[in-house]
Amino acid sequence: MNKAFKFRIYPNESQKTLIHMTLGHNRFLWNKMLEDKQRHYELTKNSLHLTPAQYKNDYPFLKDVDSLSLANTQLNQEKAFKQFFNHKQERPKFRSKKQDYGYTTNLVNHNIVLLKGYIKLPKLGEVKIKQHRTIPSEMILKSVTVSKSSTGKYYVSILYEYQKEIQKQVVKDAIGLDFSMTHFYVDSEGFKMDYPKDIQTDFNKLRVLQRSLSRRVKGASNYDKKALEIALLYERIKHKRDDFLHKLSNAIAKRYELVSVEGLNLIEMSKTNPYYAKQISRFGWTRFVSFLKYKLETQGKSLMMMDQWYPSSKRCSCCGDIKTDLKLSERVYDCPNCELHLDRDHNAAININKEGFRKYKLAFQL
Ligand SMILES: [Zn+2]
Repeated sequence: MNKAFKFRIYPNESQKTLIHMTLGHNRFLWNKMLEDKQRHYELTKNSLHLTPAQYKNDYPFLKDVDSLSLANTQLNQEKAFKQFFNHKQERPKFRSKKQDYGYTTNLVNHNIVLLKGYIKLPKLGEVKIKQHRTIPSEMILKSVTVSKSSTGKYYVSILYEYQKEIQKQVVKDAIGLDFSMTHFYVDSEGFKMDYPKDIQTDFNKLRVLQRSLSRRVKGASNYDKKALEIALLYERIKHKRDDFLHKLSNAIAKRYELVSVEGLNLIEMSKTNPYYAKQISRFGWTRFVSFLKYKLETQGKSLMMMDQWYPSSKRCSCCGDIKTDLKLSERVYDCPNCELHLDRDHNAAININKEGFRKYKLAFQL
């Protein structure tokens, strides 16, 4: 199993310069490879395999930075293309300086060592670190991602691998969660989980600030100040949101042995219902599901995801009748067959729970 730990680092001036250079060269390589792949595809309709070595002669400056980071950039781009061809992600895009992409380096021959107050990294040497958690000694360090946030902070995310014997748990309590337009989710017991009010307020504030920035001219006075204000607020929102998602997923994974959720295809959704898709990604639903999955599986519990075509909203949770003409505006499910009268999302969550349990039994041949 893998686990990542993220810590803030405090590089000195020359280390900062080297980090910026490494990020820049990796971004350059990413864009160059992407450009070449796209051109090749347009000409031949075939994909092209590229390695950093092929670029080092034409662009010798690439040799100045950690070569493992370049190899990882290549691998990440290949992964991104694979996801794109499997319709799981959008086409890989060109990267700009504005976004916070980190670079990743791997452990080879003691090139990375975590010391007291310092982390030794390839090319950078010892960088000051604020390590707020100790790492269990049985964990094996695999790789480190160095990043810089748009607010000027530096971080390392250290990935560890460890062995764990996991005992499969018997399902005593199961629950289904339905992502709702008006709540974060509604569960199969009828409980409605709301999104924290203060995060929503922050999101609204962010939108107002972004709108005011878009009216300003880049380079004009106060532009950078406003942009930093936005970046700081966004960073705060992300922290609060992750905190909320972690606490909530912890509580659910502790209480239930089986959790079933909707299968959402955000790319498809953004075409048919852009508002809904935006809401989902803003709230971090996908992130929440991945937290939940990890927390359940490390305890020998399970997460079941519905097939994206499963009609959780249209099906009557009582008699199984399907209402093909159910409109988005209908907030209550009224069954013409068995006269069930139930909140739309609660009905969907019951269906998800039932279907999840059926899939679970099938998967584990129970
Ligand atoms: Zn019915």
